[in-house]
Amino acid sequence: MKVHNAEIVISAVSPKQYPETELPEIALAGRSNVGKSSFINTLIDRKNLARTSGKPGKTQTLNFYLIENALHFVDVPGYGYAKVSKTERAKWGEMIETYITTRKQLRAVVSLVDLRHDPSKEDIQMYEFLKYYNIPVIVVATKADKIPRGKWNKHTSAIKKKLDFDPNDTFVLFSSETKKGKEEAWQAIEAAIKK
Ligand code: GDP
Repeated sequence: MKVHNAEIVISAVSPKQYPETELPEIALAGRSNVGKSSFINTLIDRKNLARTSGKPGKTQTLNFYLIENALHFVDVPGYGYAKVSKTERAKWGEMIETYITTRKQLRAVVSLVDLRHDPSKEDIQMYEFLKYYNIPVIVVATKADKIPRGKWNKHTSAIKKKLDFDPNDTFVLFSSETKKGKEEAWQAIEAAIKK
């Protein structure tokens, strides 16, 4: 998809704040610093529409972006910040769980992991949670440019194994530096919103 129009619609915490449209939604989740904002900005050809999210102390909201009047990207605040308090973490969990389990417009979740490392405990929990609720997942392994090509397969296999990756899901190797995987990611998203 070539994106000409992308704008933030609302930062929501509770369901009554979600936009009242029937447009399909793609949520994006990942640990802080995984490259989620860079991924969103690459897909929509912007430098910084999606601000770096999930910094400690920053309000934890679901950010809805309207893309080409065709779909919403729902940016889920990054997880995995050690400094976040238990109460904040619980609130975060509740907000995500409510959104994922009740939102009819949700078609798939883009789950971002860092290609260089094994998935974190939170990455694995998130994937298990999404599979439990039968949500299609597009796993995007970021920062591929930081790994030599010859090692991509090895890292991919290791991540898939740790996640117990469902072969019905899509796996995309991605780099916001080289734009590798941009087309594959869009193809996976477009396939998900057509279902
Ligand atoms: P977020 O917290 O998940 O939104 O992560 P950001 O998109 O802000 O990225 C975190 C850091 O990783 C920034 O310094 C980015 O420049 C860097 N980064 C993100 N994606 C890539 C990538 O594909 N390749 C490289 N080399 N660096 C990346």
